[in-house]
Amino acid sequence: MGTKVLIAEDGVVSRRLLRRLLDDWKYDVIEVEDGTAALKELQAPNAPRIAILDWMMPGLNGTEVVEHLRAAQNEMYTYVLLLTARTDKADVLCGLDGGADDYLTKPFDPQELRARLRIGERIADLQERLLGALTASEFRASHDGLTGLYNRSAILRLLQREMERCAREKNRLGAILVDVDHFKRINDNYGHAAGDEVLLEVAGRMKAALRSYDFLGRYGGEEFLIVAPGCGRQALQDVAERVRHCIADVPISCGQAKLDTTISLGATLADGSADIGRLLQRADGALYDAKNSGRNNVKLDALAAADHEDMLVDHVMLPQPASSQTCGA
Ligand code: GH3
Ligand code: MG
Ligand code: MG
Ligand code: MG
Repeated sequence: MGTKVLIAEDGVVSRRLLRRLLDDWKYDVIEVEDGTAALKELQAPNAPRIAILDWMMPGLNGTEVVEHLRAAQNEMYTYVLLLTARTDKADVLCGLDGGADDYLTKPFDPQELRARLRIGERIADLQERLLGALTASEFRASHDGLTGLYNRSAILRLLQREMERCAREKNRLGAILVDVDHFKRINDNYGHAAGDEVLLEVAGRMKAALRSYDFLGRYGGEEFLIVAPGCGRQALQDVAERVRHCIADVPISCGQAKLDTTISLGATLADGSADIGRLLQRADGALYDAKNSGRNNVKLDALAAADHEDMLVDHVMLPQPASSQTCGA
């Protein structure tokens, strides 16, 4: 399929000529007869990247279409070739000033049109590649290269954002630190590549075990952080147990080997503040506790363990004196 090009031209003869030429040159043509329809086509999903707009048209004229298009600041750029019967330089300059990329005066030389369309294609390709590179580099900056999960800085940013949101909306928020048990042994016994494979599988299983609105990031080497909005103690415990089981219940295949892998989890709840340092400290303490209690288990920190969800719902429903609104901490 050739490059998609929009032709917006109210004159029947000129439109047919354009159509025939562009068909011959194997473009994928969309044809409209006025400026309003042109703008609609250019703002639709999957819109043509190149537009040939007649200057004088019913509805919006060619330059007005470009102005609207540029003002919308769509992510994808549309290369606009204005078609004009006007030869007055001042008019043409005004069209280019309004955001058109190029112009042709009618009657036009087909070979010249063809050359100018090729320029448009080159620019459109370039822009698409740039956008692709930008999206890819944004992804790389916020995601972990091995697991594809959020990286440390991205998951911490998300945690901060969610803590602020929950504090504002007086909502609950759970956070769970996860650490693979005796992971060093896997590296030592099967090699670093096998270790990587295990991390990838652990990440995939955990992601699948979480609710769609939970966030999961790689916090460090074999450590992960789960951010669970809307979680009280019971839900937090349930999520953490589900995640623990999804690893412990089925050995991880790694080449010929089947590796019994487990994780330890330290869970806590936000205390109503947006203090991410304190929250992580509590989760880390709980994780330490889980390791010391024999690994492959879930521990809540003191604040989460003391939490009584119903009581906290009451706290939210009934205005309380300021001193009794904090729980634990
Ligand atoms: P514990 O149960 O106490 O957590 O023991 P552990 O062996 O899991 O903990 P330790 O901190 O001693 O070892 C973690 C290891 O994880 C050490 C490090 O080499 C390894 N590691 C960190 N990042 C990666 C990675 O990206 N790939 C692989 N294969 N190994 C990694
Ligand atoms: Mg016209
Ligand atoms: Mg560790
Ligand atoms: Mg570990």
